[in-house]
Amino acid sequence: MSQEAALKNYNALLKKVDDKFQDIYGRHKDQFQCQKGCYSCCKKDLTVSGVEALQIKNFIQSHQEVLSLDKGKEGYCEFLSERGECLVYPVRPIICRSHGAPIAYKDAIDDVDSRQYRDVCDLNFTEVDIHDLDPQDIMNIDTVNVLLAVINQHGGFSQERVPLTRIHFLNKLAESK
Ligand code: SF4
Ligand code: SF4
Repeated sequence: MSQEAALKNYNALLKKVDDKFQDIYGRHKDQFQCQKGCYSCCKKDLTVSGVEALQIKNFIQSHQEVLSLDKGKEGYCEFLSERGECLVYPVRPIICRSHGAPIAYKDAIDDVDSRQYRDVCDLNFTEVDIHDLDPQDIMNIDTVNVLLAVINQHGGFSQERVPLTRIHFLNKLAESK
């Protein structure tokens, strides 16, 4: 598979993750605190897969002003703006799209077991126990990551994780000149 085909499949996966998030959000709006200006989840030192990095690089290439005009918020992901907004929002990686929804992070053989392997942002679902939620209200992050790994591999990308840092992407842009 070419890198272009991998990007296409990756964007189809992003759409599924976004749709799933909206689906869960639609049923549990009152349990979500996610909104513009809430950025505790935008941690330092996040990494992304090769296909995700290519998508972000392509975006930065055509939006270079994004990085030159804003120094970023110290102590957070380097793509968080001084005002607390994501500078690469349209191409933010999967981890940033799934965050906030209740996730199952380990596949289990039966439903009873699987319920203990759930997690959610501390700010969300404070009045509902996520262990009691129906499976349809859970994002299975392991499945998403397996699909992402397959797309990454078929696109011929390295399995090495890419740091979500400005210097990495600026170097990549310089290399491609
Ligand atoms: S996941 Fe948590 S920290 Fe991130 S935007 Fe949602 S509520 Fe805020
Ligand atoms: S890429 Fe954007 S949404 Fe993801 S952690 Fe960084 S600033 Fe937050």
